[in-house]
Amino acid sequence: MERLARVRDLVIGKGHPISVQTMYDSPLAGSDPARIVERISSLHSLGCDLIRFSFISPEDAEPFRCIAAHSVIPVVADIHFDWRMALLALECGADKIRINPGNIGERSRTHEIVRAAADRGAAIRIGLNSGSLPKDGKGRGVPALMADTALEYLDWFDSWGFSNAVVSLKSSDAGETVEACRLLSSRSDVPQHIGVTEAGSPVISAVRSSLALGDLLRSGIGDTLRVSMTGDMEDEVIAGVEILRTLGLRKKGVRIVSCPRCGRHAFDTIAFERRVRQRLLSLDRDITVAIMGCLVNGPGEAKGADYAVTGMKDKVYLYRKGVLIGQVDPQEAEEALFEAIGNEG
Ligand code: SF4
Repeated sequence: MERLARVRDLVIGKGHPISVQTMYDSPLAGSDPARIVERISSLHSLGCDLIRFSFISPEDAEPFRCIAAHSVIPVVADIHFDWRMALLALECGADKIRINPGNIGERSRTHEIVRAAADRGAAIRIGLNSGSLPKDGKGRGVPALMADTALEYLDWFDSWGFSNAVVSLKSSDAGETVEACRLLSSRSDVPQHIGVTEAGSPVISAVRSSLALGDLLRSGIGDTLRVSMTGDMEDEVIAGVEILRTLGLRKKGVRIVSCPRCGRHAFDTIAFERRVRQRLLSLDRDITVAIMGCLVNGPGEAKGADYAVTGMKDKVYLYRKGVLIGQVDPQEAEEALFEAIGNEG
């Protein structure tokens, strides 16, 4: 039987949808939990299944407790060195915690965390980064050392009768990440959280992450993922979902097609796409929307789309499956598009 991890109502592992994660980018202490809960809902509508928070100090406890109680998706507490923060986060309702047992200190501390997670039905991610590995095994090479170390910790968990675990092996080097995940997959069916760490600014991260995660996912490796970015959480989620959609691993949702523009463009596709992107991607519809720059090629190229928008400086045209359904002033284009989509739901 395959190993699975259960994180609230989310199941991670073979045979289950691959989930997309992001990480909250600001401190919990002093935050406004109600606003964070709202932001989580909007991330969820973009396709986010799981969100992680750095849990650093006792001051994080109350906001985290409130967020865990009201978030529409499971919440994960990221623990660095202090085992007591892991216990506190679990007590506050963490659905999962992420630890590197190598940073926690004595093995008995990790055992205590595992016992508390088991008592509360929470999952644990064993998260290893290339920068935080045992010092004495570097001769093996980073990927082998990461895989060996994770398997050793997994043995501890097994000996304590705890199987609700996920493993992540991450490096900022995409090749090392792929090799480490492959090694682990050849030796264990533990669910894997995959991602390239410190992957850079949005465009650079999207390229690195797509190549590395695409390689792994095509081989059937990876049960949950994060596209780490020096950028917005929303973009991390959009990139993660798009990787899955491009590989045919996630079907639902709006697919945006937009032309790059050329010298013929009369409609500003860049500004319009920016304006409508999040709203479109938040719709619970399985449709393609094309945003095209000119009337010369736009309508023809957009024929395969469910909805298309193109235009000239003073007029914007809307199409439904290649048939013109309306023309509006540019400032009305956004609402007209969403009205058309909404009316024909
Ligand atoms: S749709 Fe028009 S503006 Fe866009 S790339 Fe094609 S020819 Fe150029």
